[in-house]
Amino acid sequence: MSVLRKFLFEGLPVRGMLVRLTDGWQEVLRRRQTVGEHPPEVRVLMGEMAAAAVLMQANIKFNGALVLQMQGDGPVKIAVAEVQPDLAFRATAKVVGEVPAGAQLEALMNVHGQGRCAITLDPKDRLPGQQPYQGVVPLHGDQREPLQQVQQVLEHYMLQSEQLDTRLVLAANDEVAAGLLIQRMPVEGEGNLAGQRNEDDIGLSEHFNRIAMLTATLTREELLALPPEQILHRLFWEETLRVFEPDASATPRFACNCSRERVRNMLRGLGRGESESLIAERGEVEVGCEFCGLQYRFDAVDVGEMFTPVRDQPPGPAAVQ
Ligand SMILES: [Zn+2]
Repeated sequence: MSVLRKFLFEGLPVRGMLVRLTDGWQEVLRRRQTVGEHPPEVRVLMGEMAAAAVLMQANIKFNGALVLQMQGDGPVKIAVAEVQPDLAFRATAKVVGEVPAGAQLEALMNVHGQGRCAITLDPKDRLPGQQPYQGVVPLHGDQREPLQQVQQVLEHYMLQSEQLDTRLVLAANDEVAAGLLIQRMPVEGEGNLAGQRNEDDIGLSEHFNRIAMLTATLTREELLALPPEQILHRLFWEETLRVFEPDASATPRFACNCSRERVRNMLRGLGRGESESLIAERGEVEVGCEFCGLQYRFDAVDVGEMFTPVRDQPPGPAAVQ
């Protein structure tokens, strides 16, 4: 079963979280197989993004969807991991062309330096006209050096957007997608007013630096193979750790929130002409969900109804309610 464990370093302004996605992650891969499996390098990318997105959602406890999306200029055009407040997650990627064996982030998504990573927070109860919050970072570092790992991109994002020192270790194979996050908590009264902290202040905490160094000794193999308790003991046995009980109401799991209604709205957005020409061509419109593989079919009658104002529709079961 997938698990998320949160912990604190007693007396220190440092907290952490460890996630291990098993059944839910395997479900993502199984559904993908039905429409054609991605190369292993892309599966690792998606797994690391899924683990990272769950950690980020659990870390901020945002009442809405957290969407981690990378846009690439290499063979991977887009990769997305989306996590709901109850930690239900889904992930997908679009690949066009050949993926070189052993490809890392640069060869996958940042061949021409145009790759981007966007984190979107889409509130559940969005007010009319309210835009979702979005932060964007490039896939290169401060010296324009291309980054090779998702974890480096996200550490950079968190430093920029939240001004928080963060260390991430991510890893994935076909059974497990896992991640460890360590974060320096903002200390109250410590020059925490706007404009008073800058990136120079960050990195000065001796406690955080020690814990960050210990974190960096964790190998991907260990992160994938060992149970959370063992990883924490192996890294931090000299620290005083308080590990919280898992929150039963937020266990990471696979779930897709696509629906016939959403696809219908998407087709409406496409316009009447486009939808009707698809009907003329194939007799029906078929739309597959990229996340879960579900197929939605609409025939000529469905499409006709879509573009007819409700008051002109003949009374049917829906109108009687
Ligand atoms: Zn779906």
